[in-house]
Amino acid sequence: MKITASSEMKLIGLLYSIGIPAEAVLLSIDGKLVPETAYVQKGQEVEIIYYKHVPPLSSPQEPRGRWKRAEHSPDCAHCQSAPVIYLPYANQHLCPKHFKELFEKRVKRSIRAYTMLNKGDRVGVGLSGGKDSYALLHVLSAVRESLPFEMVALTVDEGIPGYRDKAIENARKRCGELGIEQHVYTFKEEHSKTIAEIAKEGKENLCSYCGVLRRKILNSKARELGLNKVAIGHNLDDVAQTAMLNLIRNEPLRFARFNEPLIENEKLIPRIRPLREIREKEVAAYAFLHGHEYNSGCCCPHATSALRWSVRHELNSLEDQYPGTKSKIASSFNTLQGIVKDSFRGKNLELNSCRVCGEPCSEEVCRSCRMLSDL
Ligand code: SF4
Ligand code: ZN
Repeated sequence: MKITASSEMKLIGLLYSIGIPAEAVLLSIDGKLVPETAYVQKGQEVEIIYYKHVPPLSSPQEPRGRWKRAEHSPDCAHCQSAPVIYLPYANQHLCPKHFKELFEKRVKRSIRAYTMLNKGDRVGVGLSGGKDSYALLHVLSAVRESLPFEMVALTVDEGIPGYRDKAIENARKRCGELGIEQHVYTFKEEHSKTIAEIAKEGKENLCSYCGVLRRKILNSKARELGLNKVAIGHNLDDVAQTAMLNLIRNEPLRFARFNEPLIENEKLIPRIRPLREIREKEVAAYAFLHGHEYNSGCCCPHATSALRWSVRHELNSLEDQYPGTKSKIASSFNTLQGIVKDSFRGKNLELNSCRVCGEPCSEEVCRSCRMLSDL
């Protein structure tokens, strides 16, 4: 969406005047990313990039907290180049070079801290074609320069007309450019139904079907390909949202096994989340700086129906007002997760093989087989 400034003003003021938290969007002028602390001239056109499909629904407000006080800087904190991003929690402006360096350094730190990767690993990167997986593919390519491991892309096409097609096309193009082998799987071939067909018959929230069925494809195909890890593009926002959702829904078992299964099973390929400590906005900016195309007309028509959508907006508003909120929620989640996990120790948590498909599961029949047979 493009808007034209009616007078000279700070971009953050312009955003808030139309009710959009800075945390939910990226801004660009003449195709270049700009920090929200920059000034816009009267009559100048600004592009608002909704990196999560559709505009957030908020009423006009005044900038709050750190955003209210943030001063524009003409230079990056580390050099004389023009900044493209402002990090409110660090009160820092960064140019593309220094932002990318910081981003990659932080991802490497998370990889080390959670021992996500080892030399010689064979990793399947879940590549939907969206900004998170696109950024993940690029950052892991950078990580591979100092830590050699094999990497292939795993793309799942759920069958959402007008939404996934373009993203998958972009993913295919980018894998070709980076020389990364890509495997594409479809819901139709693997589960006999597209998500659009399930939408007509399903009784549960559509995103639950989508997530469970996608996870099953990623796990079984990674195993078939002889991979020993699956990397997914979950960012800090996803972690903070999941923590809040688990509390709201009172699901301690899911809470306990979010980062890793409670018990290991050779059929269960471990999942790693290298972007887990990076805000979604920064992931979106990193993808933009690597040429990711944000397609404003392209959206999953089911995204706004989930409770996650409301939680997401609340967290963005809180982050704008109190920078660092998402990080603090994720840290509390980690601490509590350890305690909840301990409480499950000694309980009978054996994993079985699903009677229908043979995938590992805690009951006689796995969730995806139960979901599909209930349709
Ligand atoms: Fe699937 Fe829901 Fe994501 Fe759409 S928003 S792709 S239905 S999980
Ligand atoms: Zn099954």
